[in-house]
Amino acid sequence: MRQDIEEVGQTYGIEKWGAGYFSINTDGHLLVHPERGRPGADVYDLVDKLVRERKLSTPLLLRFPQILATQLKRLCAAYEAASRDAGYQGDHLPVFPMKVNPRREVVGEFLREGVGQSVGVECGSKPELYAALSLEQPAGSLLICNGFKDEGFVNLALLGTQLGKRVVLVVEKLTELKMILRRSRETGVTPWIGLRAKLYSKGSGKWSSSGGEAAKFGLTTSEILECIRLLRAEGREETLRLLHFHIGSQVTDIRRIKNAMREAARVYAKVRQMKLPVEILDIGGGLGVDYDGSRSTFEGSINYSIEEFANNVIYTLKGVCDDEQVPHPHLVTESGRVMTAYHALLVTSIRDEIETFANDRPTVVLDDDDPQVIFELNQVLGSINVKNYRELYHDALDAKDELYSQFNLGLVSLEDRAKGEVLFWEICSKVSQFAQREGINEHEFVDLQKTLASKYLCNFSLFRSAPDSWAIKQLFPIMPLHRLNEAPDTVATLVDVTCDSDGCIDRFVDVKTVKQVLEIHEFRGEPYYLGMFLVGAYQEVMGSFHNLFGIPNEAQVAIGPDGRAHVAKIIPGSRVGDMLSFARFDHRQVAESFQSQVAARVSQGALTAAAAEQVVAEYTAALQGTTYLE
Ligand SMILES: *Cc1c(COP(=O)(O)O)cnc(C)c1O
Repeated sequence: MRQDIEEVGQTYGIEKWGAGYFSINTDGHLLVHPERGRPGADVYDLVDKLVRERKLSTPLLLRFPQILATQLKRLCAAYEAASRDAGYQGDHLPVFPMKVNPRREVVGEFLREGVGQSVGVECGSKPELYAALSLEQPAGSLLICNGFKDEGFVNLALLGTQLGKRVVLVVEKLTELKMILRRSRETGVTPWIGLRAKLYSKGSGKWSSSGGEAAKFGLTTSEILECIRLLRAEGREETLRLLHFHIGSQVTDIRRIKNAMREAARVYAKVRQMKLPVEILDIGGGLGVDYDGSRSTFEGSINYSIEEFANNVIYTLKGVCDDEQVPHPHLVTESGRVMTAYHALLVTSIRDEIETFANDRPTVVLDDDDPQVIFELNQVLGSINVKNYRELYHDALDAKDELYSQFNLGLVSLEDRAKGEVLFWEICSKVSQFAQREGINEHEFVDLQKTLASKYLCNFSLFRSAPDSWAIKQLFPIMPLHRLNEAPDTVATLVDVTCDSDGCIDRFVDVKTVKQVLEIHEFRGEPYYLGMFLVGAYQEVMGSFHNLFGIPNEAQVAIGPDGRAHVAKIIPGSRVGDMLSFARFDHRQVAESFQSQVAARVSQGALTAAAAEQVVAEYTAALQGTTYLE
C-alpha cells in the first residue's frame, strides 16, 4: 500500500513542487502542512465537509494563511543566515508588493503582529496605495510607492507621511520628481524619495523585458544624475534614501540575479560616494517559484533555492560595497510571488466526461453493400499489429480522408460515415497502445494519445481562477485530492465550464518534460475532486469574468498543532445577481422587464396567472444562485 502511495506521489511530482506543504496519507488523501514538518490536515475531508455541511460547491478556493507566514519566515531566515555568514551589516526589510495579491486577508496577514517580521508594503497604483494607507503597519516598516504617478497619487502618498508612515516615493520618470518636489514645497510635507534605475542587466524567463535598456520603467544613468542635480539645486538631497531596480518576475536563472546585483551594487556605491544619504537598496522581486519541480531554467521553474538566491544577493552586494568602501545598505526585497503562491489551492470537481469520437464507439457490423472505403478501414483494423502499425496508421488516415470526400460528394450515407468513424478510432486506439508499449514519443503518436485521452469537464473557469494558464501557458500542478492509494487508471485532459475552447488544460507539470495528459482515475460519477496548486500569486487578481462566471467560494483555513483543520472564515462566491451588476444590468430593471414580458403572455392567454407567478418566483430566486454548475 505504502509503495503504491509513493508511486502515485511520484506520478504527480508532489515532493518536487510541493515545497514540503503537501503529502499523501494512508487513506490516499492529500494532506496540507502549513507549518512544514508538523502534522498535516486532510484536504479531502475538509472539502467533503465544506460541501456537505456548509453547502459550498466547487469551484472552491482554499486559503491557508499559515502558509503565508511560513513562506515569509523562510524568506527572512534565508537572508538572515546569508547576512550572518557574510558579515553583512545592513538589515533585511521585506516588503509585500500588493500587485501580486491585493486581498485584504493576504496583505493583512503579512502586516499582522505576530508574524514576527517587520513587513512593509509596496503599491503601484492609487487604489493599492489607498488600501495600504488604511492598514496599520509594524513600526519602522516601509510603504513604497512604485509605478507611474500623477498628482493625486503623490498627494495620497504625502497623506501617508503625515500619518507618520515611512513612505518612499520611487521616481520612475524625471517629471515625477519635479511634481513631488513641488507638492512637497506646497504642503510642507517631506516624503522619502527613491530612484528606480534602468539596469543594463536583464532577468531571464517570461518577464525578462522588465529589465534591460528597453525596459518600460526606470531612469537612465543620465536621468539619475539629473535627478541628483535637481535635488541638490532645491537643497533636498537629504530626502534621497533609496535606490530601486526590478529585473522582472520569476527569474529562472540564478546567474541573471548575480549580474543584476553586481551592476545595481555599483550604481548604489557610486551614488553613495557622491555624499548622498541613500541607505536602502530595493532589489524588487524576481525570486521565482518552482511550479513544475524540475529545478531548471524552464519557464515554470527556477534553478536555485530561496537560500541560494539570498546568498547570491548578499555576497555580491557585500563584495561590491567593500570594494568601493561604502557602507552596506539596508536591503529591501519585494518577493511577492514566493510569499503568496503556495497559500492558495483551487478545488474543482469533475462533472462529466465529454463524449468525443475517440470514446464514443458502438460496435460496427458491415453490410455487403457498404462502400469500399469502409471495407478498407475494416481490413486495416483486422490486420494491425505491433510490426505494421505505423504503416497501417497512415493507410487509415488516407482512408478517413477518402471517407469524408465521398461523403461530401453524396456517395456515402450518414450511417456509413458513422461506421467509418468508429472503425477509424478503433484503429487509432490500437496504434496508440502499440506506440505507448514501445515507448515511442514521436509527435504523431503523442498527439494521438492526447486526442484519444478522455476529456473531463471540471467545474471552474480557467479565465477566472488560473488566467496565466491561458494567457502565458503557465503550468500549475494539478492532482486529485483523494483515491491516491489507487494507481491512476486512465489519462485525461481537462476542460472548464466556459464556452471557450481555450478553456482547457492539456499541458501538465512533469519533472522531465511537459505532459500532454494527466494521469487520473476513471470517473465513476461520484464526487471526484482535483486540486490546482500554487495559485496564490497573481491568479486571483488577474482573473476575468469570462461568460460571467464569478468569484469562487472561498474558505480560510487554519491547521492546529494536532493537524486538525479549523475553518476560520467562509466567503461565498459571486451570485448570478453580482455578475449582472458587473455587466451593468440593474436588478430592478431586469425584474421589471422580465415581469412585463410575463404579463404580456398572461394577457395573450398563453400563461395562467398561477403559472406566471411561479415563473416570476423562479426567475427571482435564480438571482441568488451560483454562477457555476450546482
Ligand atoms: C511585480 C513586482 C514585484 C513582484 O515581483 P515577483 O518577482 O513576482 O515577486 C516586485 N516589485 C515590483 C516593482 C514589481 O513591479
